[in-house]
Amino acid sequence: MIQGDPVPDMMKTEQHTDTPRPTDPAAAPLDGPVHTSAEPQDTRDAWPAIRKGFRRRCPNCGTGHILRSYLKLRDHCPVCREELFHARADDGPAYLTILFVGHLMAPALHIAFVTWRPEPLTLITIFSIGCIGLSLYLLPRLKGAIVGFQWARRMHGFS
Ligand SMILES: [Zn+2]
Repeated sequence: MIQGDPVPDMMKTEQHTDTPRPTDPAAAPLDGPVHTSAEPQDTRDAWPAIRKGFRRRCPNCGTGHILRSYLKLRDHCPVCREELFHARADDGPAYLTILFVGHLMAPALHIAFVTWRPEPLTLITIFSIGCIGLSLYLLPRLKGAIVGFQWARRMHGFS
């Protein structure tokens, strides 16, 4: 407390009672009033939203394109105006892409080598193209799927 401050600490804490609930839980004061869950929200099924997102469509309406370029997410759905800027996919799409491509291509590489014994240059050429192509195919789709999941779970401000 600053010397000479006319407002005692006890009265300062009273000011928090009528403040609106912050959207970021970490920003809420630790000694503030306890907020129980507000009005009940309808539940959203995650899998339909993930499927719509995988098709790079809006998880709400399933029609509007959610990406405006290869990986850039639109702020709003162009059809139903659903807010999409809450999404925080971060490294998730890249992680899932590596996970899927690696687990598909590693056994395929083994099977192809054991079965056909191709020339090393032939093998690396085919599998390089396969890995790059599959990664480029999956990356925006998995980003859409993650956005759909976050929308269904009302994460990061999705309401
Ligand atoms: Zn939409």
